[in-house]
Amino acid sequence: MLVIYKIARSNIVKLTPYLSARKLGGTGDIWLNANESPNGLDSKMIHKNLNRYPEPQPKQIILNYARYSKIRKNQILITRGADEGIDLIIKTFCELGGKDSIISCPPTYDMYGISAQIYDVENRIIPMLPDGQLNLKKIQHYLKTSKIIFICRPNNPTGHVINKSSIIDIIHYAVDKALIVIDEAYIEFCMQDSLASLIEMYPNLVILRTLSKAFGLAGLRCGFILANEVIINLLHKVIAPYPISTPVSDIANEALHHTNIIKMQNIVSKINFSRNYLYSELKKIDFVQHVFPSHANFILIRVLKVQQVFQYLSQKGIIIRNQSDKVNLQGCLRISIGSQKECLQLISVLKKFSRILK
Ligand SMILES: *Cc1c(COP(=O)(O)O)cnc(C)c1O
Repeated sequence: MLVIYKIARSNIVKLTPYLSARKLGGTGDIWLNANESPNGLDSKMIHKNLNRYPEPQPKQIILNYARYSKIRKNQILITRGADEGIDLIIKTFCELGGKDSIISCPPTYDMYGISAQIYDVENRIIPMLPDGQLNLKKIQHYLKTSKIIFICRPNNPTGHVINKSSIIDIIHYAVDKALIVIDEAYIEFCMQDSLASLIEMYPNLVILRTLSKAFGLAGLRCGFILANEVIINLLHKVIAPYPISTPVSDIANEALHHTNIIKMQNIVSKINFSRNYLYSELKKIDFVQHVFPSHANFILIRVLKVQQVFQYLSQKGIIIRNQSDKVNLQGCLRISIGSQKECLQLISVLKKFSRILK
């Protein structure tokens, strides 16, 4: 066994891998821990021609996604989820083996740091300020010698949207030095905040998108990188030859048909309505100390007795995600917005717990 460790790269032996909601597991019937949609697409596809390799970058998906995101078709790369996008960008732009670095600004999505570690690229951590905005002075300083900054917008797990003006400032300082990667995994929940239209203007801006969240297709594994053509062409050299399987391609096309986009937008409106309802109900619960205003399909709360709250919900079959181990999030739990019925059950269980505490 340990001989194998000598053969493996030492940073992989040392690596603590990403702990996905699925790996954490749990038992229950209300799953609110992975920001999945309560509604999926009922696919009508029958898959044919599986003896043939798929199109490497299916044209029809590119055309549909270009129309949906109002950008040009040569500004898009289809990936196996946004997670592959993160990996590809680091692999394409960073010198491996401890020479280069990325910047991440926690509390945020963990995969930026983990993907960097896999390539032995340093992850420079510049925590957000107490108001949730970016530490621009420090970022400006470190950007002189970093290749990429990852910014999640709206941010997972807090749900807030970092100021557009800070992003523009960062794009300007980094213009000839670094890429600014904006992770828009949750952008459909606040579409007016998308920065996709800016890729036309800024050669160092990259945007990550996915079908996993608002489109309700986490099981499909399909995402997108949006950037100018020069960046997209570099990424083309690195991506696997056939990353998108034929069934994925067929279903992604179906999901991007305009009638299904309208369905998705209706589901997003319902989820945003439920989130606003939860926000006001959670504020009334006495062991809830703070409810973070969210623009995504989840809501973060800070509570007293975090472990007990988590356990109680779990006993009642409601699985959420504890975020207490993250920078500045002691006592925080993240709750995905489920169906309207699930939201009502959640509030009722929390109220019961509140009576038990008294
Ligand atoms: C869920 C999530 C992803 C991963 O998306 P996939 O397309 O499912 O790989 C990326 N970034 C953030 C911020 C996420 O929350």
